[in-house]
Amino acid sequence: MKQHTLSKIYSFEGKGLHTGLYAHMQICPAPVDTGVRFIRTDLPKIGGHEAYADAIAENVSKTARSTTITGHGVSVSTVEHLLSALTGLGIDNAYVRIDNREVPILDGSAKPYVDAIAKDGTVEQEKDRKWIEVDKTIEYVNPKTGSWIKIEPADSLTVTSTIDFNSKVIGVQTVEWDPSKDYASEIAPCRTFCFLHEVFGMLLAGLVKGGNVNNALVIVEKPISRFKLRLIERVLKHPDLEVTEAGYLSNVELRFPDECGRHKLLDLLGDLRLCGGFLKAKVTAYKPGHSINTKVAQMLK
Ligand SMILES: [Zn+2]
Repeated sequence: MKQHTLSKIYSFEGKGLHTGLYAHMQICPAPVDTGVRFIRTDLPKIGGHEAYADAIAENVSKTARSTTITGHGVSVSTVEHLLSALTGLGIDNAYVRIDNREVPILDGSAKPYVDAIAKDGTVEQEKDRKWIEVDKTIEYVNPKTGSWIKIEPADSLTVTSTIDFNSKVIGVQTVEWDPSKDYASEIAPCRTFCFLHEVFGMLLAGLVKGGNVNNALVIVEKPISRFKLRLIERVLKHPDLEVTEAGYLSNVELRFPDECGRHKLLDLLGDLRLCGGFLKAKVTAYKPGHSINTKVAQMLK
């Protein structure tokens, strides 16, 4: 298998989920062995070259609710959905030119990227793909959260991911994926999610400033006070939130019954891409998250 890049430049724009900052972004073809490089076009050049950070595990600087990379003092946050899309599409090399510090959240999934890029196909390059393989099992456990990820030797990639938030709305969801299944239709459309009772705390922590029910599924697990709901509406400039008894805020319809579980697998694929290549291993994850995902990517590197 050879390395691949994009056949042309793709443009996206919109607000970042956490910062609420508006960004224009171009995903561009790149030469062999580039990997995925984020270039901040709004920052001054450093030592004669554009300000950039490579999407590699040692550059992970923050994992609170999204993955941030920082290289040479240059940061870009919420890189995981785009990295997942590029991985699902089999793209080895890309320059991502962006004029702000957070990748636009778009509809909360990887579908807009995949819809745009897949129809044009990708361009094969002259060098072989960089595969990341393991010769023995790697396991990482977070005793605090009970999360774990196991990577076992295998001839091809398989991913099994289970989520369990102790939620009566979403329950326990186990999702399996391997490259014989269509990433574009099975995984890419699945949107990010959070629980309504966490939104207030996340806003206080300076997160989800760009969030709304068009870019995230908001799970209503237990009622919140009218006061808090009105406050959330005001901060998010979102005056018409509709609270259901238990289910999804504003009765947003799911794209898959296990959309949340599938989204966590989408995230996992994106975060693991930070290992610097395409993984050839059997991956099993229980309650994955950006912190544990990126730690494993670092171990793989
Ligand atoms: Zn996500």
